[in-house]
Amino acid sequence: MRGALGGPRVLLRRLREVMAEPVSAQERLDKIVVMIAANMVAEVCSVYVLRVDGSLELYATEGLSRKAVHLTVLRAGEGLVGLVAKEAAPLNLPNAQAHPAFSYKPETGEEIYHSFLGVPVLRAGNTLGVLVVQNRAHRTYSEEEIEALQTTAMVLAEMIASGELTALAKPGAEPAARRPVHAKGETLSDGIGLGYVVLHEPRVFVKNFIADDLQKEQQRLDQAIDTLRATIDVMLEEEGVARAGEHRDVLETYRMFAHDRGWLHKMREAVMTGLTAEAAVERVQSDTRARMMRQTDPFLRERLHDLDDLANRLMRELLGEENAPKRTELPENAILVARNMSPAALLDYDRTRLRGVVLEEGAPTSHVAIVARAIGVPAVGQVANAVGLVDPLDAIIVDGDAGEVHARPMPDLERAYAEKVRLRARRQAQYAELRDRPAVTKDGERVNLFINAGLLVDLPHISETGADGIGLFRTELQFMVAATLPRASEQARFYRSVLDAAGGKPVTFRTLDVGGDKLLPYMRSIEEENPALGWRAIRLSLDRPGLLRSQLRALLESAPGQELRIMFPMVATVAEFDQARALLEKELTHLRRHKHDLPETIQVGAMIEVPSLLFALDDILPRVDFLSVGSNDLVQFLFAADRSNARVSGRFDPISAPVLRALKQIVEKGREYNKPIALCGELASRPLEALALIAAGFRTLSLSPAAIGPVKAMILELDVGKAAAVLDPLLTHKAGKASIRERLSAFAASAGIPV
Ligand code: PEP
Ligand code: MG
Repeated sequence: MRGALGGPRVLLRRLREVMAEPVSAQERLDKIVVMIAANMVAEVCSVYVLRVDGSLELYATEGLSRKAVHLTVLRAGEGLVGLVAKEAAPLNLPNAQAHPAFSYKPETGEEIYHSFLGVPVLRAGNTLGVLVVQNRAHRTYSEEEIEALQTTAMVLAEMIASGELTALAKPGAEPAARRPVHAKGETLSDGIGLGYVVLHEPRVFVKNFIADDLQKEQQRLDQAIDTLRATIDVMLEEEGVARAGEHRDVLETYRMFAHDRGWLHKMREAVMTGLTAEAAVERVQSDTRARMMRQTDPFLRERLHDLDDLANRLMRELLGEENAPKRTELPENAILVARNMSPAALLDYDRTRLRGVVLEEGAPTSHVAIVARAIGVPAVGQVANAVGLVDPLDAIIVDGDAGEVHARPMPDLERAYAEKVRLRARRQAQYAELRDRPAVTKDGERVNLFINAGLLVDLPHISETGADGIGLFRTELQFMVAATLPRASEQARFYRSVLDAAGGKPVTFRTLDVGGDKLLPYMRSIEEENPALGWRAIRLSLDRPGLLRSQLRALLESAPGQELRIMFPMVATVAEFDQARALLEKELTHLRRHKHDLPETIQVGAMIEVPSLLFALDDILPRVDFLSVGSNDLVQFLFAADRSNARVSGRFDPISAPVLRALKQIVEKGREYNKPIALCGELASRPLEALALIAAGFRTLSLSPAAIGPVKAMILELDVGKAAAVLDPLLTHKAGKASIRERLSAFAASAGIPV
C-alpha cells in the first residue's frame, strides 16, 4: 500500500470535503467509494448497508458492476459480507472464493477478484453496514490497511446514522440505523410512558472526526489518559468513602485497563490514521461494544462493560462534558435509559418531567424498581443493550404493563399507545370510583388495604386511593434524597407532615433500612462480599445507635397525643428486637423527663424478613405489638436468590407452596397470640398474588398506591372461602407438582375475578 500512513490521512481530508458538498446521497456515496478504492489501490470498493429486514444491500460500488447497485441483496449472515456484519469484525482473505461462506452473485462480476477485506460499519457497537475492498491479486491486507478502512467506515457510519440514505431505499427496506426497535424486558413498574430518551450516563457524541494536526491529537490523547489514570488513583485512595456504586474491584479493573497497552495502542493507532483523539476513543469503544454484545460469558461481559465505562470517562476527559445531565436539563417527557441506576440516582431527577425508565439490568424487587413504583414512573428492566439501541432524544415508549420498550416507534404504534394511555386513564377513573368502597369480599371478609410510601409525593395517594393508611413508610428514602444527613428536627417535621397527611389513619414507620443496595451518599459505606446479608438495617442501627436514637426521638416528638407505630427492619433474633425496643424506651424516658408531649399510644413491631424468625414466632410474638412480613426480603432469603439480581430473582415463584406455607403459619400464630399480622412487601401489589395471600389468611396488606385499585377490584369479586378451598389442598404434601399460580388463575378466570 502506498505511503502507509499518509494515505488514510489524505483520504480522510478528502472525505471531509465530500461530506460537505451539496450533492445527492447517492452521488456522495459514489464519490466516496471511488476515493477509497484509489487511496487504497484497490480495484473494488463497495458499501453494503444493513436494512431493517436484516439483509445487506449494495448501495455503491467502484469496480463491481454498477447494475448491481441496489439490486444485490445478501440475506442476514449470507456470504462474506454477511459474515462481517454478523461477527462485527474485519475479515481479511487473500483468496476469498475459497472461503466456505463465499456466496457468488453473478450480477456483480466479482469472480475475477481474489483478495477481500471487509470491515463492519459500526456505531455505538451496532452494525450499520459493511465496507469492502477487493483486489484481483491474492494478497493479504496489512494491519495499517485494515486500520485505515475501519477509520473510513466511521465516517460512513455517521452518514448512515444521519438518515441521509433513507430516501434511496424502497419501503420496508430502509437502512436499519434509525429503524424502530422493539425490545422485550421485564416489568419493574407498571404503566405506560411516552417520551424522549435521556441517557443517565450520557454518551459523548463526537462531532469532529478528522484531525487537523496529528501531533496535537496524540498529545491530547496522552494527556487525557494521564488525567484518567490520576483520577482513578485518587478514587482508589479515597476508596472507603462512599462513591455511588463504584467499588474497589471495579476501580481496580479500571486501573488495569487504563494501563493496558493493547487498549492504548489501538487508540494511538487510530489517531495515526487521521482521527481526532475523541474519534479514536470512539472507534475503539465501538469495537468493544460490538464484542460485548456478542459475549455470553457474564464475567467477560462485565469486563467489557468496565472498558466501555472507562472509554466514556476518557471521552468526557477529552471533551470536558459533565458527568451526568443536570436535573434542570431534563426535557419534558424524559425517559431515562441506563445500564443500571441506584435508587438515590433515580430520586435525583425531576419527577415532574420523568415519564419512564429503561434499564439493561434491574429486577422487580430491587430498590430502584420500588422507587420507580413509589414515584409512579413506568419502568422496564432487563432490556439487552438498551443504552446502545438508542440515541438521546429518540422517541421512545416504555410499556411497563407488558415489560416492553419501543424506540423510534412507527406513527401507528405511537397512536395505538396514546390510545392505551387514554384507556388506562379510564380504567384508573373506574378504580377511583371504588375509592370509598370498603374492600370486602363477596363472603363478607374485610381486607385492610394500606399503601407503601416513603416520600412526600406519596402522601396524596392515601386520599386518592382511599387506602386505610400507610402500612410501610420507608423512612430511609428521605435520607437517600437528602444531600446531607437530615437533622433530628427536620426528621420530626417530616414525620409530622406524614401523619398530618394521613389525617388520623394509621401510619407504620419503618426505622432506617440502609445498607445493601440502599446507600446514603454522605455516609461512609464499607464494601461487602454479600451486601444483602451484610451490615444493613437494624444491624447497622444497633451498632451505630446514635442514628437510630435520633430517629426514634424524632418519631416520638412527631406524634403528640396520637398513635405512633414503629417497626424495625431485618430483625433476625429476638435479642435484636429487645435491644431496639430498649433504645426506644431510653428515648421515651428522656423525653418524659423533659416533659415533652408524647404520643398517646405507641405500637412497636418487627418485620419478618429473615427466615430465622419463622422458627422463633413463639418467642417474638409475645414481645411485639404487631408483625409485618417484608416479602421482598423474606422470599429472597427463603430461596437464597438475590432480589436485585435478575438472573436469579425470577427463578422461584413467590406464590409457591414453600412460601405460602411459611406465610400461613405466621398468620395462624398471630391469631393464636392475638397479634395483628400484615404483609408489606411487593407481593401484595399484584391481584393474583394478593388473592393467594388473602386465601392464606392475610387480612391486612400494604401495597404500592397504584395497586390499590386493581387489588380492591379483585377483592370485591372474591369469595375467600372458595379460594381457600382451592389453595389449602395445594399446600398439603400430597399436592405434588401442581402449580398454585396456574390453579388460582384458573379459579379466578372461572369465577370472573379480575386478576
Ligand atoms: C421487604 O423486604 O419486603 C420490604 C418491605 O422492605 P424493603 O423492600 O424496603 O426491603
Ligand atoms: Mg426489606
